[in-house]
Amino acid sequence: MLPFKLIYSDGYYLPIGEHVFPAEKYRKIRERLLASGVAETNDFLEPEPATDEDILLVHTPEYVDKLATGTLSSQEELELEVPYSRDLVDAFWLAAGGSMLAARQALVDRVSVSIGGGFHHAFPDHGEGFCMIHDVAVAIRRLQRDGKIRTAMTVDCDVHQGNGTAVIFAGKRAPGDWLPWTSGSALNRNRPARMHSADAEDVFTISLHQQNNYPVFKPPSSLDLNLPDMIGDGEYLACVGDALSLGLSMFKPELICYLAGADPYREDQLGGLSLTIEGLKRRDALVFQIAKAERIPVMVTLAGGYAQDVEDTVTIHCNTVIAAKEVFAGE
Ligand SMILES: [Zn+2]
Repeated sequence: MLPFKLIYSDGYYLPIGEHVFPAEKYRKIRERLLASGVAETNDFLEPEPATDEDILLVHTPEYVDKLATGTLSSQEELELEVPYSRDLVDAFWLAAGGSMLAARQALVDRVSVSIGGGFHHAFPDHGEGFCMIHDVAVAIRRLQRDGKIRTAMTVDCDVHQGNGTAVIFAGKRAPGDWLPWTSGSALNRNRPARMHSADAEDVFTISLHQQNNYPVFKPPSSLDLNLPDMIGDGEYLACVGDALSLGLSMFKPELICYLAGADPYREDQLGGLSLTIEGLKRRDALVFQIAKAERIPVMVTLAGGYAQDVEDTVTIHCNTVIAAKEVFAGE
């Protein structure tokens, strides 16, 4: 039995037909975890969907109404890049409920993994890039509203920048708040990072992503690492360590929300970095080791993964669970 809970529902499946997004990955991950003996059926908790009230903690009433009534414009549906349906709306409400449950469980068990979620391209008033609802932001805002946490840090290792996350948590920062990162850290060597003053903000956002990739316009996170094309395991892992130590030196969150994207993988169809499957597992372990050492609970969502062979994507996501098991075993 795992020392933490996995959050999953068959309803995570996204009904989007033939698509580069492998919507069947969630079910395959659960099956692989059970078949390989990594997890047992009672390690899984089934989430309830978020309520409209939860969704409205992040999204605008106008947008939620369009989703409820099926009145997105054709331009809005085009930007979403997945075909609208009522069933798809239900799947995203469930993903948000799953992230809420994972966040609550992380506070109990120090870590929890939702076998879904991580839809970081959703904005308050529109969806983009396969992301209709920002499940992680809904989870953070709900736990804040319930008084369970005051602060959180998002650690987004999807290959694409977390543009929705950056906008949702940007708050009232003025452009004058920007602080260019100019020290001699490894962060600065060929990797321009930008940072806000984090004073008085309740959510600190970190995004490590490929610079030359979607989204073209990258609204500033608290800390952005714009990675060059095709970097491999060693350089990438150094960046993850640097970003976390810098971020945690500036901001001490009560919860880390880790988006464990599988798309930095070198055989990803939508990525342009060069990580191996083993390197991605080491990345996950590094994030967990740091969270454990700092005594900060960590909730995990899967985010993207578009390997040419879907089984590779499944392996990478399963390894996230295995890495958590190895790091948190015996706790
Ligand atoms: Zn991605």
